[in-house]
Amino acid sequence: MPEEQAREELQAQMALPMAENAVMRVKVLFPLPLFQAFDYLAPAEMGLSPGDWVAAPFGRNVFYGVVWPADAGENEEFDASKLKAVAEKVGAPPLAGEILDFLAWVAAYTMFPLGSVLRLSMRSGEALAPPQGLFGYRASGAAPDRMTAQREAVLEAAGEGALTAKELAEKSGASEGVVRGLAKAGALTEERIDPDPPFAEPNPDAPSRPLSPEQRAAADALIEKISAPSPSPVLLDGVTGSGKTEVYLDAVAHVLRTQPDAQIVILIPEIALTLPFLKRIEERFGAEPAAWHSDISSAARRRVWRRVIEGNARLVVGARSALFLPYKNLRLIVVDEEHESAYKQEDGVIYQARDMAVVRGARGKFPVVLASATPSLETVVNVDQGRYDIVRLESRFGGAQLPDVRLVDMRHDGPEPGSWLSPQLVDGVNQAIGSGGQALLFLNRRGYAPLTICRRCGHRMKAPDSDTFLVEHRFENKLVCHHTGFSMPKPDACPVCNAVGSLAPCGPGVERIAEEAAQRWPNARRAVLSSDTAPSPSQMRAILDLMRDGGIDILIATQIVAKGHNFPNLTFVGVVDADMGLAGGDLRAAERTYQLLNQVAGRAGRSEKAGRALLQTFAPETAVMQALAGGDRDDFLAAEAQSRMDLGFPPYGRLAAIILRSSNEKLLQDSAIEHRNAIPRADGVEVWGPAPAPFYRLRGEARMRFLVKTRRDVHVQGFLNAWLKKVKLPGAVRRVVDIDPYTFL
Ligand code: ADP
Repeated sequence: MPEEQAREELQAQMALPMAENAVMRVKVLFPLPLFQAFDYLAPAEMGLSPGDWVAAPFGRNVFYGVVWPADAGENEEFDASKLKAVAEKVGAPPLAGEILDFLAWVAAYTMFPLGSVLRLSMRSGEALAPPQGLFGYRASGAAPDRMTAQREAVLEAAGEGALTAKELAEKSGASEGVVRGLAKAGALTEERIDPDPPFAEPNPDAPSRPLSPEQRAAADALIEKISAPSPSPVLLDGVTGSGKTEVYLDAVAHVLRTQPDAQIVILIPEIALTLPFLKRIEERFGAEPAAWHSDISSAARRRVWRRVIEGNARLVVGARSALFLPYKNLRLIVVDEEHESAYKQEDGVIYQARDMAVVRGARGKFPVVLASATPSLETVVNVDQGRYDIVRLESRFGGAQLPDVRLVDMRHDGPEPGSWLSPQLVDGVNQAIGSGGQALLFLNRRGYAPLTICRRCGHRMKAPDSDTFLVEHRFENKLVCHHTGFSMPKPDACPVCNAVGSLAPCGPGVERIAEEAAQRWPNARRAVLSSDTAPSPSQMRAILDLMRDGGIDILIATQIVAKGHNFPNLTFVGVVDADMGLAGGDLRAAERTYQLLNQVAGRAGRSEKAGRALLQTFAPETAVMQALAGGDRDDFLAAEAQSRMDLGFPPYGRLAAIILRSSNEKLLQDSAIEHRNAIPRADGVEVWGPAPAPFYRLRGEARMRFLVKTRRDVHVQGFLNAWLKKVKLPGAVRRVVDIDPYTFL
């Protein structure tokens, strides 16, 4: 009998005597691109239940996986002879039921394989392995037989806690050999150290700066709303500089205080913001929070993962992926700068972390706070329709005024030929630096010039394997593709007509503005901030700190500078090209332009000195420019909402994109036609395409797109499932589904 056979096999594998019926069947989900969990056998005495971590053979390897709940009403009859056995139960705390439920929901919503979604919660898979033995050293108090300068430095570096040889060597500047020599000589004692030390408990009642009366009222309102039995998400809507952070940290303190086992995560969009933010949190709660983003070491990752699943890390600060950490008892999520498009994950499993945070809270019945000075239209509509609550902060902290924002009409008052800064902008910088303030020139474009064109034949320099224009980077003398990272030295001659010296830069990037600033203000202290000039977060920090401390007179920067930073002495902001984000036909173009430029202008005048901002635009009459220049944000959003409603766009309808890509163009086109022929008829659904993607060729692959627009009440995933399962995809064609797309390239 197959069952008996299987049991025997299992017993042989386990080399354990086993009682009759002591085998159970479990489902195991692996963090691999699989749409379902697989059946395994396990000895009953393993006591496996959903959420437990196991190692089990799959294909030719053994993988870590998680015991998955069996679907309700599933047929229990199975052919046990085909089933393999779970290899072992892993000694890590189980994944909470709330997380299993959430992962299944995310997989169904995004239409990505369940196993790929599980992977988001296993970003530190190695954390499941038992901790490696780690040894550290501390001073024994005994003097070594022989003292050298290096030995002295090491002993000085050896502090209260034990440090590894590597840490001691780094701290003292001596080699690890010197550390070991001292241990041999008895001056250092060796001891085992915990590789994943616990996080200190945050103290909600640590001494903190008192809130202003307006902030206090907002914090009280926020606490009341998040304490409701089934709380709605709450929008904390406050102008730039109003102290939103202080207010939501007060709500965080309340949860820490009243729910001793609760965990909290604060999501922030920009990694450049993390360090000062972590410091601010540490000051507020007297303990370092657990940090989670792409720039932390694998050891730090492991520590956070383990401490989060144990419930020890109570306060986590991280990028969007921190939403998927294996919390034991998550009870509050804060999404700071909720409107940021950085919350959309575009690689691997495509998801909108802000939206998924709201889902996580709703399913776990706990509150989610969304903070922004320029909330997304989606969120504002949710407030208007009563699905979300709102708490407002109307004025800046400490009596600071919002900046005076005006437009420069480039059609009449534009710059001289060969220049990018209009007389008014130049005047603004002069006034600011002349009165001891600082100026910011903002242009959201890296490099020197966005386009390089041959003056002789008109050829536009493109990447060889993509339909993208190459951007000149003059500091490095390179042409770079900002979409794929391709780069090449700038050629002397046009590759098409061979004319020498004919390649001319068109339009400005930050480097070109820096060049003009150098000519105009040779004696001012100037700096450029973009991801090219400051490729690492620490280099970025260095420039931002210098700006904050007054070491720079004129900062020329891309959007890195837009968010969260406080430059007390910044009094003038000049936006070189306010229209830049409006091209391209993206449905959120105007909304995003408003958000970005409002944030940039909001950097000015954050303390005693008044600030002003000038926006250079060719379209001063547009609603978005009028709203920026002292107009009413809510009127602008209402007009935007109306136009989205007229078009049936989100949040009034749903969008999904299907992207097909292949290096074999013939197969791609055939597949696109096959997809088109398979589109089911459905009420309230429109499908556009197939159309070549705006960048048709990217990294050597050609790409075709469909855009699906449905009424809000249509189950778009159901429609897509019915459609896509009718088409057999050739191996050489890849298909990606993007639910709620934010980019259309
Ligand atoms: P927002 O996030 O609304 O732009 P922040 O929370 O960053 O504002 O606060 C703006 C600035 O005001 C920060 O430098 C912050 O330290 C300061 N600030 C806000 N509230 C207080 C307060 N109650 N006491 C002292 N400083 C505050």
